[in-house]
Amino acid sequence: MTRRVIIDEAECIGCGSCEEICPEVFKLNKETEKSEVIKPEGGPEDLIEQAMVECPMSCIHWD
Ligand code: SF4
Repeated sequence: MTRRVIIDEAECIGCGSCEEICPEVFKLNKETEKSEVIKPEGGPEDLIEQAMVECPMSCIHWD
């Protein structure tokens, strides 16, 4: 089973760190100022893990 990446948008502060680290999977929505997962089936796992670790709100998770 493939893991999916999810963002708890209620917690996201729109810092843009995840998009900076892994733009293939995360994109900051400029209107909502929340980050969105644009490729939930994943991308480079090492970069996704890094984005999770560096997210200041710890709101990126595996589903
Ligand atoms: S790193 Fe975390 S808080 Fe920052 S935009 Fe991404 S999900 Fe939101």
